[in-house]
Amino acid sequence: MSKIVDEVVAANAAYAEGFGAKGDLAAPPARGFLILTCMDARLDPAKFAGLVEGDAHVLRNGGGRATDDAIRSMIISHKLLGTREWFIIQHTECGMQTSEGKRLAVFLEESSERAGKTNAGFQNVCVDCDATDRHAKKELAFDDLKKSVVDDVTRVRNHPLVNPEIPIYGYIYDVKTGKLIEVEEATAAGRPAA
Ligand SMILES: [Zn+2]
Repeated sequence: MSKIVDEVVAANAAYAEGFGAKGDLAAPPARGFLILTCMDARLDPAKFAGLVEGDAHVLRNGGGRATDDAIRSMIISHKLLGTREWFIIQHTECGMQTSEGKRLAVFLEESSERAGKTNAGFQNVCVDCDATDRHAKKELAFDDLKKSVVDDVTRVRNHPLVNPEIPIYGYIYDVKTGKLIEVEEATAAGRPAA
């Protein structure tokens, strides 16, 4: 058997050992909320948002994007399992947002020189990539990420099957500090109907 399988089985045996009263948990999340976030291994929603088993729904996909499938699960989460507040949390240095626009932000961070087209798609080809204003370019990438959170909160908010009374909050998780940073424009877009 693989080393990983052995490790997982051993870890689970230890976990089940201390399982205790968790066997009595009900399926509806006790704290009535949901988090949609990225599958990135650096993110641990239970830790960064203070969850224990039974507290909340956590949906994860590449990018923490509000795909049709994610929205379908969010609707089930509310309609059948009673969640009443939703968070959409994307993060810095996300490798999953692979549209040309996202790649562009990364390219810009490395260099202002023109990218070259190769068999593997666009690549930075400059030999002197010491960009002088990396900070400004990082900000650009951050703006792009904020827009992605705003777009996704707006998409969920406008979905015809989503209860208009559910507040949807938009955040960015900073992988360098572990902090959640609110995207105010996203939370405003996700405000519930009065
Ligand atoms: Zn990610």
